[in-house]
Amino acid sequence: MTQPWSKDPKTGQTTTGKLEKVDSPVPTLQSNEVLVEVAGCGVCHTDLGYFYDGVPTVTKPPLTLGHEISGRIVAGSQNWLDKEVIIPAVMPCNKCDICASGRGNRCLAQKMPGNSLGAYGGFASHIPVPADDLCVVKDRGNFQLAELAVIADAVTTPYQACARAGLKNGDNVVVVGVTGGVGSYVAQMAKAFGAKTVVGIARDPDKLHRALEYGTDYAINSSGKNENDVRNEFRELCKAHGLPNYGWIIFEVTGTGPGQAIALNLLSFVGKLVVVGFGLQKNEYSISRLMAFDADVIGTWGCLPKYYPKVLEMVLNETIKIKPFTETRPMSKIREVFEEAHATKMMKRVVLKPDF
Ligand SMILES: [Zn+2]
Ligand SMILES: [Zn+2]
Repeated sequence: MTQPWSKDPKTGQTTTGKLEKVDSPVPTLQSNEVLVEVAGCGVCHTDLGYFYDGVPTVTKPPLTLGHEISGRIVAGSQNWLDKEVIIPAVMPCNKCDICASGRGNRCLAQKMPGNSLGAYGGFASHIPVPADDLCVVKDRGNFQLAELAVIADAVTTPYQACARAGLKNGDNVVVVGVTGGVGSYVAQMAKAFGAKTVVGIARDPDKLHRALEYGTDYAINSSGKNENDVRNEFRELCKAHGLPNYGWIIFEVTGTGPGQAIALNLLSFVGKLVVVGFGLQKNEYSISRLMAFDADVIGTWGCLPKYYPKVLEMVLNETIKIKPFTETRPMSKIREVFEEAHATKMMKRVVLKPDF
């Protein structure tokens, strides 16, 4: 990305974003670094946010976007050579107090490819990364290494979210945005953590229908409805199926104003709202309701690298199914894929494979 889309706040004039292919020299590796030949890099909503919506990157453009990366190590220390790996989307410093307290997924010195790892990102042929926290792929069966890239965010973020929520056997769960690139895995992951019921909320009827095959027990289509309509429909659903009207764990994965309004409106007695999605808008909410409900609102960011091997195992043994939600395309088509992902509702997450 040499230039993101932007709008002058005074004149209202729009500047077109630019993605360009450039040749850069192979960097000198630090002692703890390896060079990964990228097998695939997933196109995430966050990349679109950086390019189209004014979400700032830590490293200012020009930089290479992309943080859902799998690949093979081609340079660096001998014991890493030739290993296939998944690169965690956020890599903690492992030295600070936050890391020591077990919350390294939100370490302030963390490195994220395509954002804060210098100018390096996954939409490239190669990327230098710290070796410490790489997740090694040993026997990947009939999975392509490229498609396993989605583990490095889309599947691990839901794992961290469920762990952070303290999700346990028998819990009842709502996923707002259940059809999205991350939401579809939140539903599957919640089931893997033992959730008894998963209610999925989204707007696309085809994707909602698909969600019912992958973790979601009941679907609510929120298209054309406000948060009160959705809450009423949710209450009726609970009544009809003998489900409680308290204690629900609600994952908000859309990061949109309407999605967050729905999630806040569903929060009730001894419930928990887990904020997984990100957006720049603001919400109005009477926080005294949290007191009255004895409820929690928590945020969750990324995923600790230590959880990656577990998530990889869940994908390889198909506890979490990625194939119905993933497709690969040549990386040279990045402009078209960004356009398409930005303008339309794609059924599958695209993993770009270097073809240059
Ligand atoms: Zn992402
Ligand atoms: Zn740290």
